[in-house]
Amino acid sequence: MTIRLHNTKTRRKEDFAPIDPQNVRMYVCGPTVYDRAHLGNARPVVVFDALFRLLRHTYGADHVTYVRNFTDVDDKINATALARQQAGAAGTLEDLVRERSDETIGWYHADMDALGALRPSQEPRATEFVGQMIAMTAALIEKGHAYAKDGHVLFRVRSYENYGALSGRSVDDMIAGARVEVAPFKEDPMDFVLWKPSTDDLPGWDSPWGRGRPGWHIECSAMAAELLGESFDIHGGGNDLQFPHHENEIAQSACMGHGFANVWLHNEMLQVEGKKMSKSLGNFFTVRDLLDNGVPGEVIRFVMLSTHYRKPMDWTEKKRGEAEATLRGWYQLLLDHGFTAKLVADMKAEGAWNADAEFVGVLGNDLNTSGAIARMHVMAKNKTAATLVGFAHALELLGLIGDWADLPDLAQADAAPAVDPAIAAKVEALLEQRKAARGAKDFAAADQVRDVLNAAGVQVSDAGGAVMWTLSADFDPSKLEGA
Ligand code: AMP
Ligand code: ZN
Repeated sequence: MTIRLHNTKTRRKEDFAPIDPQNVRMYVCGPTVYDRAHLGNARPVVVFDALFRLLRHTYGADHVTYVRNFTDVDDKINATALARQQAGAAGTLEDLVRERSDETIGWYHADMDALGALRPSQEPRATEFVGQMIAMTAALIEKGHAYAKDGHVLFRVRSYENYGALSGRSVDDMIAGARVEVAPFKEDPMDFVLWKPSTDDLPGWDSPWGRGRPGWHIECSAMAAELLGESFDIHGGGNDLQFPHHENEIAQSACMGHGFANVWLHNEMLQVEGKKMSKSLGNFFTVRDLLDNGVPGEVIRFVMLSTHYRKPMDWTEKKRGEAEATLRGWYQLLLDHGFTAKLVADMKAEGAWNADAEFVGVLGNDLNTSGAIARMHVMAKNKTAATLVGFAHALELLGLIGDWADLPDLAQADAAPAVDPAIAAKVEALLEQRKAARGAKDFAAADQVRDVLNAAGVQVSDAGGAVMWTLSADFDPSKLEGA
């Protein structure tokens, strides 16, 4: 099967042809580790995890290398360390910076594991590659693409004629549109930092330009070259990183003579209930907040995969409820058809664990996860032995089942956030009425009950004989009264 991917660089969907099918290589910009990941930060994780899984499926699990970095040198991390020291924490600022980074990486792993994201093949910490960043910076000065001034090293943007090609903007447009910093040590306001001085108490490294630390953009160019080589297949990240971060990565690497990434993929942003997530709007929350509120990681993942990665996605309470109902129905369907951990292991051993060709084909068309999910609904409805194997395979390929032994837990509705027992009893009673009406073949009565439930904001899904229900955001208990 040929995977097709939309390349930001060419603004077209292209057949994906890896440089070396024995080692398909992907780099994705990772988080700056100063705080818990918010829900938006999880979108690129889930999107590129889905791509990682599709590549492993296509080229073999041992033939894909996925690198995602941790940016563990940054003003925001320094600020958290300073605040802790001022609050009386023991240790040097450097110790406290390290502590904060370690702690944040631990949180990140726990939260992203809960979303079913596989750990990338390598997760380099920027601070472990400062030697390579210094070497690249020195080489760029040598080639005339950078200059040192007052302990800083700056990249000379005008020395790279293709600057702006990724986002399709000219340097002059970018100056007009961006908040570029004018500083006395810059030849041109567009020039960006490769190296900057550090104070004695904050993390810093000795360099030809004095004690200092790398700029953010050089981190990715240096780590990608070190771990994936000068040319590799895919570079990913959020849309917000296209400019300036990715333009700057390209400028640095191209001026080193590196081929760098062939395909650039960018996920669109996540919003919450139609609004940009922000602390001031009070709609800002972390992945951990959701998990702690009883929203299963699989549900968060499913909602994310329900929107194509190049479309803005909206997190809504309604979608959460629908996703929860669908997934529970699907897990129950598999249980009803005897999909135990043992059965799946046996099928894998016997070579009977077959993918659904249509599902994989849809997914391979620019990572069309929403289309792939639509195909899964069809398979779940068909319920023939062959489609159910393809369906189960698809659930695993999308990362919606990690451990088959967990299936009974996942299918249980009691893991959901607690619903007022009086309301639950009322809904259950109505569902019983519907069941009785159906049993008596009085379908008009059965539909009437369903309409009452829907009107009140109770979402019902039938799957494999099991009836699941959840309350949507606009649930109105008064509409259940008198029903
Ligand atoms: P940061 O730690 O802020 O550099 O962000 C880490 C990753 O999260 C980057 O790939 C961003 O593109 C991504 N990101 C941040 N906010 C959002 C959002 N609202 N929606 C989707 N991705 C986001
Ligand atoms: Zn990067």
